[in-house]
Amino acid sequence: MPSSTSVDTLVIGAGPTGLGAAKRLNQLNTATWLLVDANEEAGGLASTDVTKEGFLFDVGGHVIFSHYAYFDDVIAEALPNEKDWYNHQRVSYVRRKNIWVPFPYQNNISVLPVEDQVQALEGMIDAAEVRVRAKDAPQTFDEWIMRMMGQGIADQFMRPYNYKVWAFPTTTMQCKWLGERVAAPSLKLSLSNTLYKKVAGGWGPNATFKFPAEGGTGGIWKAVAKTLPQEKLQFKRKVVNIDAKAHTASLDDGSKIQYKHLVSTMGVDYLIDNLKDADQSDVKQLKAAKEGLIYSSTHVIGIGIRGKQPERIGDKCWLYFPEDNCPFYRATIFSNYSPNNCPAEGAKLPTLQYADPTQGKPDSTPKDGPYWSLMMEVSESSAKPVNLQTILAETVQGCVNTELCLPGDEIVSLYHRKFTPGYPTPSLGRDAALSAILPTLESKYNILSRGRFGSWKYEVGNQDHSFMLGVEAVDKALYGAPEMTLESPDFVNGRRNAERRLTPSA
Ligand SMILES: Cc1cc2nc3c(=O)[nH]c(=O)nc-3n(C[C@H](O)[C@H](O)[C@H](O)COP(=O)(O)OP(=O)(O)OC[C@H]3O[C@@H](n4cnc5c(N)ncnc54)[C@H](O)[C@@H]3O)c2cc1C
Repeated sequence: MPSSTSVDTLVIGAGPTGLGAAKRLNQLNTATWLLVDANEEAGGLASTDVTKEGFLFDVGGHVIFSHYAYFDDVIAEALPNEKDWYNHQRVSYVRRKNIWVPFPYQNNISVLPVEDQVQALEGMIDAAEVRVRAKDAPQTFDEWIMRMMGQGIADQFMRPYNYKVWAFPTTTMQCKWLGERVAAPSLKLSLSNTLYKKVAGGWGPNATFKFPAEGGTGGIWKAVAKTLPQEKLQFKRKVVNIDAKAHTASLDDGSKIQYKHLVSTMGVDYLIDNLKDADQSDVKQLKAAKEGLIYSSTHVIGIGIRGKQPERIGDKCWLYFPEDNCPFYRATIFSNYSPNNCPAEGAKLPTLQYADPTQGKPDSTPKDGPYWSLMMEVSESSAKPVNLQTILAETVQGCVNTELCLPGDEIVSLYHRKFTPGYPTPSLGRDAALSAILPTLESKYNILSRGRFGSWKYEVGNQDHSFMLGVEAVDKALYGAPEMTLESPDFVNGRRNAERRLTPSA
């Protein structure tokens, strides 16, 4: 017999946003709450898969850069020991014309052929002139690129790379989402580095990062989930609809959960499609507005390789690929992040194929390691289709083309999974859509839709942001507190939030 429960606050989703909401509810300890998730375990898009050979792969390159002390405290509580983490210096390059250009590209054009240096510098000079004369702000991402970096860097790197990442042309994207993520170029620095033939080192917020020793990125969120009362986290429970006026969620097993407050981290498009009994005028408006929300899918392709991590790979962490000699926009040397991302050296695995299959059929007798691994990301959208039958082989070939692999490398594990949606596109229509959707859901139906696809803002869609979107949603629901992350992305991204968010009684 399907059950019926009633709670003060219902949280849908155990990704970082839902866990943020749950952590805050548990900390406040003022009202009843419950979290449900369709998956078998916590993590959402910040999870980690393990291949049958024992290689770990995240949902693409995940690195934590926290803007919040409260988030740091929660992560430190979940994984408190030094041995729980590996610390890394970011070593990141752009691969172009068979050259590894240190990131950020625009500060390191000294390593490019002279004709590219001239083109890049001329473009930067033109752009500086345009910036001085401009009376209005750029509207599209493409205009922003042209104004900040100029034609040379736009054509060499920014346009082709961003098309590969977003799966939509930069002309169809807005530019308000850009905060600290894209390095603002310095013409002086680019010029002097070029003349002195220098390269500029670590840039931006991710110059150093830490990565969990065990379980990949998903290990973090499983550990966070363990700090919560287990009976309040319910997995394999999918919400199939929300009754907007009765404040009731219906689940796929026929049960119902009634709530006073709802923090939903499902995709807001799914929520709208499955909202029952809302006013007809609202349904019409919400459905029309959601058409302005665009996403791309992410294919994650993992390769496990026999042998020591080669010297040509060195201590590289993640690498960007703007050219069309490979389908992926980014590759992560995942074995670099933790030795536990690969099977132990003594694990005996057969060779599945050589990196270049034309090298012949390998001997399939299981042999010892050591092993190393690569993880690639390929985007897909309505504007950029991907052939599911060939993408894996094209990716392996792309690794050979870009010298990530050598033709004779012995591949012992192959992983491919498509995540839909993967990236919330900062499209031109996004902000109008969100301002029609989120306030209506909140003010009329008491639904706080938050998270990477709950509130659809890429600029506050990383793990730390998502977690805090959940925390702040609870404070909004219970106390009417403002939500800094949702409402002021530039503010939260531009500073470090030292706030530790004590409970009201404390
Ligand atoms: C390719 C890629 C690279 C990334 N790189 C980074 C990075 O470098 N650094 C970083 O900090 N972040 C990164 N992120 C972002 C990070 O993964 C997100 O911040 C985070 O996963 C978003 O959390 P969320 O809880 O909002 O959503 P999700 O992780 O999507 O979680 C939503 C949860 O809701 C559940 N759910 C959905 N619908 C239902 C339903 N109907 N019923 C019940 N449950 C439901 C799902 O099962 C899921 O567990 C990256 C993401 C991707 C895709």
